[in-house]
Amino acid sequence: MAKEATPPTFPPDAAVLEAARQALPLGLCTECFGRCFGQWGHGLTNPERATRLSEALGSPLVPPTGPCTLCEGLFDRWDVWVGRTLAAGSEFEWHRFSCGSRWDPELLAREEMVWTRIGASWGESARGAFNRELGKRVEARTGAAGSPQDPEVVFLVDLPAGRVEVTSMPLYFTGRYRKLDRTLPQTRWPCRRCQGRGCDSCGGSGKTYPTSVEELVAEPLLRATGGSGTRFHGMGREDIDARMLGSGRPFVLEIRSPRHRSVDVAAQAEAIRVGAAGRVEVEGLRACDAAEVLRVKEASPTKSYRVGVRGDVPLPKVNEALAFVAGRAIAQRTPTRVAHRRSDRVRSRRILSAHLVEAGEGRFTLDLRAEAGTYIKEWVEGDGGRTEPSLSQLLGVPLNVEFLDVLEIHDTEE
Ligand SMILES: [Zn+2]
Ligand SMILES: [Zn+2]
Repeated sequence: MAKEATPPTFPPDAAVLEAARQALPLGLCTECFGRCFGQWGHGLTNPERATRLSEALGSPLVPPTGPCTLCEGLFDRWDVWVGRTLAAGSEFEWHRFSCGSRWDPELLAREEMVWTRIGASWGESARGAFNRELGKRVEARTGAAGSPQDPEVVFLVDLPAGRVEVTSMPLYFTGRYRKLDRTLPQTRWPCRRCQGRGCDSCGGSGKTYPTSVEELVAEPLLRATGGSGTRFHGMGREDIDARMLGSGRPFVLEIRSPRHRSVDVAAQAEAIRVGAAGRVEVEGLRACDAAEVLRVKEASPTKSYRVGVRGDVPLPKVNEALAFVAGRAIAQRTPTRVAHRRSDRVRSRRILSAHLVEAGEGRFTLDLRAEAGTYIKEWVEGDGGRTEPSLSQLLGVPLNVEFLDVLEIHDTEE
């Protein structure tokens, strides 16, 4: 059934008509005139609203001879603003966008003064109207959705400067990584001496380590998206010389300022597999949203480790100590090696289970499971008494960690 178009309800009562009469001689353009009564006449554009009101007053709205005394003609230059917005957005791929604008505070104050002067309390702010109208026009030109929720690009029209700035919102990819290489840091590690600018001590690379899990995973994705840089969010991190095995460690890779958003994730996963072969393996790579970063950062799963220990001690004593340790809390003061970036305090952590897997001359290998945040090397070696009780302390001999591997991160349990 065809629906009869119902005219917008518009009952301009005496107060509205009186305010409109006051506004007539102020030299406002139809947009600004209509906007003073923005809450009246649902469904009308501001110029349509202005026409209806002047008809109701029986007095035609004479357009100002010069620029509008309120907006100074900002609302008459849509071709300029839309053109500059599209030009700013042209280097990015986007399907959802939002618009904002920066205004001369004097103009906004002038708007308040007009409302006060005519006694109108139904106005819509110029900023809100401008953003909405620009959005509608950009939607019409591009077919993209002007959604304030989850935009892919955000336009900011700087009206006093006549410039449009664009921000391309980050892209996020998640997955799990295994690290097979004992020389790789998790994230890009800028050279301490030059802070990444490049100096003699880093051979001009700006980095302490030539590459990282972050860079090996990011490289193909950065190329495919044309992003300006990355941030790597891991569910914790292992030491540089520790391998990350099992089903891997959850991570989110953030791509900043991407130019392309339609990415063949399977092809990128394959490119990572080839490019990082023997060093890093990624499972289950997929696109995700920003909320995944929090999920990964806030998780505190227990972890399983394999530790190779050098130390001269009879195996029965080791077994006895491990049986004693299981389920027990240990007190760990912030290790010396991380004290420069972590606050110095004592944390209580539990070793949940520990057992011997093999032993040789002057060395043995343990498997253990511990709460998130347990410093395993320090628990074995003692860290000069900063971890209590340590395995070394329980056995009464000095111990050294030969190697450490993370066997599993138990984030999907419970
Ligand atoms: Zn105006
Ligand atoms: Zn350097």
